[in-house]
Amino acid sequence: MAESKRDYYEVLGVSKNATDEEIKRAFRKLAKQYHPDINKEPGAAEKFKEIGEAYAVLSDATKRKQYDQFGHAAFEQGAGGGFGGFEGFNFEDFDLGSIFEQMMGGSFGGSSRRGSRRSKGADKLVNLTISFDEAVYGCEKEFKINIDDACPECDGHGGHGEKTCSECGGRGRVVSEQRTMFGIFQSETTCSTCGGRGVTYSSKCSKCNGKGIINRDKTIKLRVPRGVEDGDTMRLAGKGSAGMNGGASGDVYVEFKVLPHEIFQREGRDVYVRIPLTIAEAVLGCKKEVPTVQGTIVTEIPAGTQNGDKFKFRNKGVDDEKSGRKGDAYGIINIVIPTKLDLTQKKLFKQLKETRLDKDAEFTKYQKYID
Ligand SMILES: [Zn+2]
Ligand SMILES: [Zn+2]
Repeated sequence: MAESKRDYYEVLGVSKNATDEEIKRAFRKLAKQYHPDINKEPGAAEKFKEIGEAYAVLSDATKRKQYDQFGHAAFEQGAGGGFGGFEGFNFEDFDLGSIFEQMMGGSFGGSSRRGSRRSKGADKLVNLTISFDEAVYGCEKEFKINIDDACPECDGHGGHGEKTCSECGGRGRVVSEQRTMFGIFQSETTCSTCGGRGVTYSSKCSKCNGKGIINRDKTIKLRVPRGVEDGDTMRLAGKGSAGMNGGASGDVYVEFKVLPHEIFQREGRDVYVRIPLTIAEAVLGCKKEVPTVQGTIVTEIPAGTQNGDKFKFRNKGVDDEKSGRKGDAYGIINIVIPTKLDLTQKKLFKQLKETRLDKDAEFTKYQKYID
């Protein structure tokens, strides 16, 4: 058994001296790929279990040390000082919520949690692609998901004409007595007439065939807050599949993919833009219009500006709704060397060349090493 087990580091695809952060990152990436709420392919659940088990050991300093020393043998039943196997491992310790750590505050009503976990509806992960502008300024989005929803025909009850179960009197459980030579024994069992629900229906719902649940496409409307970043996740509590037997509904997790912009590049709340300058503008200085996500601004580029020079424009970055803070804009100078010159321009450049501009320290230093 132990021999056939894959190495935990190999399972997570990390090296033996991976940091806790690297282990966590690797786990989260794989878990998202194989979580049974997301991946319905055969074998995914086993794979997820393997990943979860590897993570349970490697994320725990003591267990990891023991594993490094003894390998899988450290956790085998009966092994001295072992912890026992992982029979206790369950998916619920690794629900989608724990996998997406840096979630955005979803103000979408609380839901569920523990206790009713066993019958909680399935979570759902949705990948939502939005444009750069939609991410920066926020937007309204609509998407469809396929879920198991409470049947609208019978309100999830599974039937019409509800009445108290006559068998158990609404308790859902029945007591039966058994007379034996030792006395009377009482035992309590789930009522078979109402299945423990305490109510029966005069007619079964034909739409859901008595299950109370139907599979359907549901449209979800979502307000995307300003400042969302690529890879951000948002939890829509209770928007997933309906729970069974009164369990809470599952959650929908929306993971954003933000498309790149033609000229802007984001780094968190900060936005970078390359400012193209002609050689003359860089040498002589100029007034330049700079586009930012907060509108165009005019800035003074001083004479002698170098390629790659960075200009900062305070609070002209992303106005982030989540943190209530504004990022900055940065303009990076990009001197564009002309490749198509007309005759006059060519002549001017030739004249420039003859004026010997190479007296700068940079040129002298370099020249020293030319034999
Ligand atoms: Zn009953
Ligand atoms: Zn129904």
